[in-house]
Amino acid sequence: MGTDTGLDLTFVQCCICKTDSALVVGKGKDFEYHTSIDTFSAVQCSLCGLIYLNPRPTVSELKIIYPDTYHAFNFSKKDFGFVYKVRSRLEARRLLSKCSNLPDDAKILDVGCGDGFHLGLLKEFGGESWILEGVDIDSKVTERAANAGLKVHLGVVEELDLPPNYYDLAFMIMTIEHVEKPDAVLKAIHKLLIPGGRVVIVTDNTDSTDFKLFKKGHWGGYHFPRHWNLFNPSSFTKLAKNTGFEIESLRTIISPVNWVYSIHNTLVDYNAPKWLINRFTLKSTLSLTVFTALDFILQKFGNGSILQVTLQKPLKKL
Ligand SMILES: [Zn+2]
Repeated sequence: MGTDTGLDLTFVQCCICKTDSALVVGKGKDFEYHTSIDTFSAVQCSLCGLIYLNPRPTVSELKIIYPDTYHAFNFSKKDFGFVYKVRSRLEARRLLSKCSNLPDDAKILDVGCGDGFHLGLLKEFGGESWILEGVDIDSKVTERAANAGLKVHLGVVEELDLPPNYYDLAFMIMTIEHVEKPDAVLKAIHKLLIPGGRVVIVTDNTDSTDFKLFKKGHWGGYHFPRHWNLFNPSSFTKLAKNTGFEIESLRTIISPVNWVYSIHNTLVDYNAPKWLINRFTLKSTLSLTVFTALDFILQKFGNGSILQVTLQKPLKKL
């Protein structure tokens, strides 16, 4: 354990097919946070097309691979200024578009809520009587969410004792790619939703132009070694069916993030000067703007960087 000797790693199977028939498609390092010396492999399941990290760090290494400087912990108004404002507005619009037809007293659960960024937007812009709750594994961020007056459960959704058949809507935004068992998480959410309830999942898309260009190792979506499972529309459809859901919609949405990090990682790997690398971070308004425009065009062709899937728990038991 630790940064000098490499992380404790474990071999895993495809979480959808439960086999290990897979080929290496990309190799790379932790280009963003440099939390270990390891070179990691992304493999593709030959049955369903899922891309997954194999071997991957053991759960005991989470504290190392998510350092205190990790950006999900530090997306603040103060540090991100203009980007924060634009992202907040865009995200609020996206979230609310998924909240039409909810009852006045809708119960909404954000799985992997972090410091409560999305819950905060729902509280600010959503229905007055909505009951908003979140789940996250990290006490650092749940404390921050609780301080902001949000109800947050500390733990993993499949182990918490939350009420079954209770929630109208769940969100899982840029979370499923981080979890140990995506199938167990979706099954747990299925149990918590009312019949007819929905879960909206947002995750990196491996059927995208940025993946095709950078998949050999520098692709931002690998986020080595923190993204353990990466989906395309077909593998996600299989996972949804395996866990008892029906697909209500599946589309790609625009995001500059994987583009920015793909260029960033390429520059880091080629030892480019720091000033140039720093032009390609989430704080760089120029590169975010340029790649948002590019992904806007690609998204029109269904090749956007990010998948947004809405799943419904069937009204009648399957
Ligand atoms: Zn598979």
